[in-house]
Formats: sequence, C-alpha cells, structure tokens
Amino acid sequence: MAWTRFTRKKDMPGGLWIRCDSCGQMLFRKEFESKHRVCGHCSHHFTLPGRERVALTVDPDSFHELHKSVQASDKLGFNDRIPYKDKLSATRKKTGERDALIVGTATIKGMPVVLAVMNFQFLGGSMGMVVGEKFALAVEKAIELGHPLVVFCCSGGARMHEGAISLMQMAKTCGALSRLNDAGLFSISIMTHPTTGGVTASFASVCDVLLAEPGALIGFAGPRVIATTIKKELPEGFQRSEFLLDRGQIDRIVPRDRMRDELGRLLAYATGGDPVKAHSEPFPPTEEADSVDAASDKRKAGKLRPKRGSKE
Ligand SMILES: [Zn+2]
Repeated sequence: MAWTRFTRKKDMPGGLWIRCDSCGQMLFRKEFESKHRVCGHCSHHFTLPGRERVALTVDPDSFHELHKSVQASDKLGFNDRIPYKDKLSATRKKTGERDALIVGTATIKGMPVVLAVMNFQFLGGSMGMVVGEKFALAVEKAIELGHPLVVFCCSGGARMHEGAISLMQMAKTCGALSRLNDAGLFSISIMTHPTTGGVTASFASVCDVLLAEPGALIGFAGPRVIATTIKKELPEGFQRSEFLLDRGQIDRIVPRDRMRDELGRLLAYATGGDPVKAHSEPFPPTEEADSVDAASDKRKAGKLRPKRGSKE
C-alpha cells in the first residue's frame, strides 16, 4: 500500500512514523493505530485490516469465526509474473489468512448479527471463489439464525486470476442476498476505502442500508479509466462517498469512531429494539439524522432509503 510507505525510507527508522496520504503530515504510528488508522490532522480514513475492523465493531469476545479453513485453489493454472498458486501461498503466509473475507457470528451492542468483513491485505480484497462462497455461507447462517447481516466492503474488485469464476461470484452473492430478503431479514453494507469493481457491482450495493466511511473511493471502473474512455474531465470528488451521498447512491456517511454506535442504532431500529438505548452516547445536538425523528425527516428528503418493501 503506497500510502503507508515513506518517501525516503532512510530518514524514518523503525517504521515509527507514517505519512498521511491525504494531508502529507507525519503521523506517529502508535498514536495513529490507537485512533484506528484515522489521520489526527485531516481525518483521512486509511484502509483498516480486516481483523482490526472486527475488533472495532463487535462486542468483546462475541465474535465466533465460521468457515475459516475454506481456501482457494488455482483452477485455471493462471500464470502472471508470479503463478497464482505461489501468490496464494505467499499471501497466506504473510497475512495468516486463508482468503479475503472473514465471516462469523457476533453481537453488536448486544444484538446478534452475522458479520462479513473484507480484508484488503489479502490480494487487495479481491473477490474470487472463496469470497463468494463464504459470503453465501454467511447469508445462509443469517437465514438459519434469523439474524441481520452486516458486511464491511473493501475491495479492488473481482480476482482476475480466477477469470470467469470470479465474475460468477457477483451473481452468487446477489442471489444469496435475494434469499435473505425473501426471508425478511435485514442487511447493512458499509463501503470503506476502496470499494471498487465487482464488489461494488454486486453485494456492496444491494443491501437494505448502504453506509460509507468518509472520503472512501467507491465505484466500478477507476476514475482514470473513465476519464480516458469518455475523454472528459471528471467532476471534483468523483466516486467519493460525499459525491455519491449527494446523488442518492448511498444512505449515510459515518466516521469510523461512530460506526459501532450507528450500527447499533440501525440494528435496533430494524429489529424492533430501542434505537436510543442502543446508542451509548447522547445524540450530538447539531448532527443531522441523529434521532429517529431526524432519520424520518431525512428519509422524506430522500437521503435515507426506506427499507425494501416498505410502503413509504
Ligand atoms: Zn492527514
């Protein structure tokens, strides 16, 4: 990840400091990590490793991982500069993960959920057969238990090493979400930086409520590819969370330090609980949409989609 590297490594011994990708300030790594990888100067949200995301989101000791041993194989014998099977085994060794999706059951503010978290550290969070399979298994678990599904997206898109098999996962994950919807269960997708390609074009965009972290790149093709294709300059902030919120493509932007509270409130709201109780802190008076009434006003203004099938 380019933004975690130093421009001049020799000047910065021991990896104690990193440079903010957005404002260029030097950040003391320990402090940066204690702030869950958000820049203290400009609030830029860096990509969060999957395991840190799980720890930040769920109630302590409530996460029970499922299907940890599922792993991909090189069905096509794909050879890039490094053969796919070598790349897989090297990445497994480096990250300690089997693939790019972590799934399990957990509670958030005491409410049970099935959680799926994409891990950008594993081959750029790319979606191949294992991500699709584990996502479908997570949905099946949610249906079996009658729990909502919460999915954190962070992906460079489909995994090209698996060719058409990776593209099939788009249909597979959307089919699974359709079954979740038929079962009357609730789903939340949180798009984090970056959520692109086949993941944006499938499960990341078809959950009931779509949240995003501030400044996240969310799109299908990258901005440079689009600009080259249409031969036009793209508007400022194109494909960022704020741009998409303005155009109604996502429902709300939630900073990382408030995500757990927001999820608690939405889960309570959707499952007949008390959204106020689920929120540990008093509602900031000036924040928009920080009460059930304000959320209702916002929905009327078209900023929060009604739940699928709702009469509103
Ligand atoms: Zn910064």
